[in-house]
Amino acid sequence: MSGPPIRALALKDGRIAALGPDPEHLAPAPPVGADFLEFPGGCVLPGFWDCHVHIAWLGAMRAACWLFDARSISEIVQRVGRWATAHPDAPAVPCRTANLEPAALAEGRMPAPADLDAVERPVVISDVNKCLGNTAALAAAGIDPAACDPPGVLWFGEKSRLERILPPQRQGAFAERFEAGLHALAALGVTTAVEGYATPDEVAAIRRLDAEGRLPCRVIVQLAASTPEQVHAFEASGLEFAQPLGPLSQIGPAKIFYDQFAMHRTARMTRPYQGEPANTGAYFNGPEAFAQRLQAARDRGFPVAVHVTGDAGLAEAVDAMAREGCREGSFIIHGYFVPEGTAARMAGLGIGLAAQPAFLYHWADTLERFVGTDRVDRFYPFDHYLAAGVAVGASADAPIADPDPLLGLYAATTRRSASGRTWGPDHALAMDAALTLYGESAARLFPSSGLSARLAIGEPADFVVLDRDPRTFDPADLRSIGILATFVAGRPVHTA
Ligand SMILES: [Zn+2]
Repeated sequence: MSGPPIRALALKDGRIAALGPDPEHLAPAPPVGADFLEFPGGCVLPGFWDCHVHIAWLGAMRAACWLFDARSISEIVQRVGRWATAHPDAPAVPCRTANLEPAALAEGRMPAPADLDAVERPVVISDVNKCLGNTAALAAAGIDPAACDPPGVLWFGEKSRLERILPPQRQGAFAERFEAGLHALAALGVTTAVEGYATPDEVAAIRRLDAEGRLPCRVIVQLAASTPEQVHAFEASGLEFAQPLGPLSQIGPAKIFYDQFAMHRTARMTRPYQGEPANTGAYFNGPEAFAQRLQAARDRGFPVAVHVTGDAGLAEAVDAMAREGCREGSFIIHGYFVPEGTAARMAGLGIGLAAQPAFLYHWADTLERFVGTDRVDRFYPFDHYLAAGVAVGASADAPIADPDPLLGLYAATTRRSASGRTWGPDHALAMDAALTLYGESAARLFPSSGLSARLAIGEPADFVVLDRDPRTFDPADLRSIGILATFVAGRPVHTA
């Protein structure tokens, strides 16, 4: 990717027929009946891919009080107040962020229950590994704030005690949540979203949305096949790998969990967690169950998308995938810590990686306490994976992280976390390489999709228009770039 930015296109039947820096310099000569688009001052790039996102959950969190980009306690308090004013009938204020971390907030401390008491309703802020309540929320849940450490915070495993005071999600609203999640992604320049995992019932809902023309982005749906019940439903569904569900949606790999989560200190690690000499993490599916899940997917002709987070987990999972023989288009989701030799092994086996650059931004400051500076400096060595020849696609796993691809690009190119600290700067990617993680390299994880994520003649007109060219921009200022428009199959699905 070089040369002047693309600012003009000719489209025919939802595909790119000609491209150029301006309408006078389109190449090749546009065909008769082509539609012409011009974005003076803009920069047209291939639409972003998000290789792993929980779309309906993101839609639900979009309706809650959104705190992902709040950088201070005072900003959090303001947003909670605004949300409460805009929702006078809501009995409580549900809030979502990526990771409440003192180092990431201007005040340098955790919010306390009393900080959130200006709103005279229960307020609950949930993130990836904990939740925090204000005084009213803790009282409603019967929790003594002083019994929590820090005050008002409940950690994973306990957090449902507080979250259960929030009104339950409306039943039967999956389609609306899914649609809302996709619109949030389209507004961020995403043109292809890979649903983390869906049940056959949810697939039926997605198929209806596509038939009704209600999908703003392309969707590749991974089928849940991680528990015995899920495998049973998966086998009984009759769904086939790469089967189209409609013009914009199709079935992707089977999703299987292996180990657990870094932010819960349950990723399967070679060395124990700091201060917990007996803890090297935990499995969702131990080696035997995992082999059975791989076999079930293989017997149905599906590649697999495997959730693995720790270094020991990654080596073990890749061994098992080699033994069981996974179909082309199989990949690892996460793979934060990579042991020596494993990336080369993955490349040799054709196993790709769906990675979350924004996790470095949101988590590094906290992870240092869990696994130490050395391991955080080597958290997500994208350069190492790419040098080994692994196809790497980017995602945010939203609403685990902020879904904004520009934040992921910032993290991949600067390796800076929310506190402003830089981690393992030798692993920083150049902007061109980082952009491929959100495009061409991402599409390589899905070789059966028929999509290339390239801005090229004859390819689907899936593109994003930015107000500046990120390739000529200081990565530190990336997040000030604006999204002017998002197009999918030649159709505007978002305009600023
Ligand atoms: Zn996920």
